Amino acid sequence: MSAKKIVAGNWKMNKTLNDGLSLISSVIESDLPSDVLVIFGTPYIHLNEAKKLVGNKPNIGIAAQNCHHEDKGAYTGEISIEMLKSIGIEFVIVGHSERRQYFGETDQLVGIKVKKCLDNAITPIYCCGESLEIRESGNHISFVLNQLQESLGDLSNDEIQKVVIAYEPIWAIGTGKTASPEEAQEIHAAIRNHLSSSFNPSIANNISILYGGSCNAKNANTLFTKPDVDGGLIGGASLIAEDFLKIINSY
Ligand code: PEP
Repeated sequence: MSAKKIVAGNWKMNKTLNDGLSLISSVIESDLPSDVLVIFGTPYIHLNEAKKLVGNKPNIGIAAQNCHHEDKGAYTGEISIEMLKSIGIEFVIVGHSERRQYFGETDQLVGIKVKKCLDNAITPIYCCGESLEIRESGNHISFVLNQLQESLGDLSNDEIQKVVIAYEPIWAIGTGKTASPEEAQEIHAAIRNHLSSSFNPSIANNISILYGGSCNAKNANTLFTKPDVDGGLIGGASLIAEDFLKIINSY
């Protein structure tokens, strides 16, 4: 077996409900490759309708962009895993760099959220990635492996194989500056080697490692042909059906 191919969109704070649903309809009504899992990461208030729209269509999933780490309580404005589960959500994007940067999420907190997802049979799409400063210092690999260790290091073999990893260099997110396929491959291979030694090689080979950061309809193919790049987490280009479809068909 090898890792599942995945193309996941992260809409961030974009799209009204109607615009979002028509984007999903355009994508799922197209001819999609049967071996690619397509995920729509919508704003919270779209999730219920989005899930109803896709139903149980094979290889289509809906993701929340975040969740709270506590089960319930006085956390005004927050959404719990149980709430997501109650409307059939199967994926949560956890630890996106924007959550880390603007909402102070630490590796430890992100690790708690990952565990909370797994305990509730929801697949976390765990995001990691270095800043430009760290990339330029040449310490990007050790930085990212340390993020992984801090957030995922305590998971069991059974748990880690249910995690999707998204490597997203912060300097590439929303900047139009994509990592080269070689840069992506270098760090994806390092992540897989790390998983292989922390858990085991067969588990590592089956974990999907996605690339994110200005991945678009033009460059997706060169990234996805790299052996350790199993797909993409797509921001801007997931907001346009035609572009997102081209990315889905880029393998
Ligand atoms: C993201 O935010 O997850 C992302 C990859 O954004 P973009 O594709 O717009 O760089």
